Amino acid sequence: MDLRYWLPRAVEVIERFGERFGPYEPHPSHRVGDADFAPVFERFAKRLDDNYPFFHPRYAGQMVKPPHPAAVVGYTTAMLFNPNNHAAEGGPATTEMERECVTALGGMLGMPAALGHLTTSGTMANLEALYVARESHPGRGVAYSTECHYTHERMCHVLGMEGYPVPVDAHGRIDPGALEPLLASGRVGTVVLTTGTTGLGAVDPVHEVLPRARRHGVRVHVDAAYGGFYALLGLSDEPEGVDVRPWRAVGACDSVVVDPHKHGLQPYGCGAVLFNDPRAGRHFAHDSPYTYFTDAELHLGEISLECSRAGAAAAGLWLTLQLLPLTRDGFGRMLAASRRAAVRFAGLLAGSEALELYQRPDLDIVTYVPAARPWSLSAVDAASERLLREGMHASEDPVFLSVLRADADAFARRHPGIVRDAGAARVMRSVLIKPEAELYLDRLHARIEQLATR
Ligand SMILES: *Cc1c(COP(=O)(O)O)cnc(C)c1O
Repeated sequence: MDLRYWLPRAVEVIERFGERFGPYEPHPSHRVGDADFAPVFERFAKRLDDNYPFFHPRYAGQMVKPPHPAAVVGYTTAMLFNPNNHAAEGGPATTEMERECVTALGGMLGMPAALGHLTTSGTMANLEALYVARESHPGRGVAYSTECHYTHERMCHVLGMEGYPVPVDAHGRIDPGALEPLLASGRVGTVVLTTGTTGLGAVDPVHEVLPRARRHGVRVHVDAAYGGFYALLGLSDEPEGVDVRPWRAVGACDSVVVDPHKHGLQPYGCGAVLFNDPRAGRHFAHDSPYTYFTDAELHLGEISLECSRAGAAAAGLWLTLQLLPLTRDGFGRMLAASRRAAVRFAGLLAGSEALELYQRPDLDIVTYVPAARPWSLSAVDAASERLLREGMHASEDPVFLSVLRADADAFARRHPGIVRDAGAARVMRSVLIKPEAELYLDRLHARIEQLATR
């Protein structure tokens, strides 16, 4: 797909539509001539040089990658109409596309009959799930692991709910034994499990926690904002190195969040929340005197906390899913490539003199540290900082990594021999979210090895 061909087609689509309605005069108040636009655009383009090459496999830092060209064309074309998926009358076509996308996401996650919608982000999606948690169990709080995304604590605060942090095991997964007394206490109405933590990519044992939670009448919400697309491997017969047990339990949980703007090749502004029991929709009941007059079905705004949302986000996802369906042979091929890259990278690090694997990856986030001498937290921290900085600022052959703060206890659980001369150390973190990482892995690894050796 060549954007130089397809982006002008987006203009043709809106022009063709416009022809149906006859000519009209654009107002001079906002008219801009090409001669005036050119220098401003040039200045703008120059400013965008101040960026990181998220598209390139030498960028192996945060969970960022560019959208698929189909998503760009879908988003851009729909954006020229500017539909608002709050209500069907804001954009009937993209509302239908959003419903179809939600059905596809539900199928991927093992919740085929779920009620759900897209959101502007994983944070908003989790807010909705926690809001339903509060309405379902008034007066009870929310348990989440100390490795969960920081916004759960924040959103509990916003919602006026008590949050209960639960310790993790030596792999960064929620500790079911530590959770048990909290489940039994009656103080918790919902537990949040994360299938793919943002820091380590650790997958909480949903299959172990779910039956325990059920015994105590506690709901389970799964935050799969990052990891959700791995359900394609977890629910397939050919799991490609992913533990299938947590993924096979997700479909029986109460709600799940997934971010198509992370693994799903979408531009930012595309999260999703799904509720297993469609009756969760009653918690969103409200009337809007301005909208909801065109469609007999529930409008998406009627099951959402947000009002305006970009119909273009649904368009981008819908168009992408026509080409790369949510199957093992569709999207799953990319996830499998990322996973293979992570497993092989971990193997290379385990055999390295200059680097140490921090912990084995569950998904595609690989964590590692320079093998500092002395083997102390402060020396590891300084060496990680240097690796990050020198990699990023190298004028030739740069590599873009990221770091994660590990406290002394967490570090020592994985590497008992470490000298604890500081409270924490930064460790290297590479999110291999792009399948291109698989093809580039040897070069990436060799370069990191080279930077760490001296
Ligand atoms: C990224 C992430 C979030 C937050 O999602 P945004 O789309 O950035 O708001 C929540 N939970 C997890 C596990 C994440 O990785």
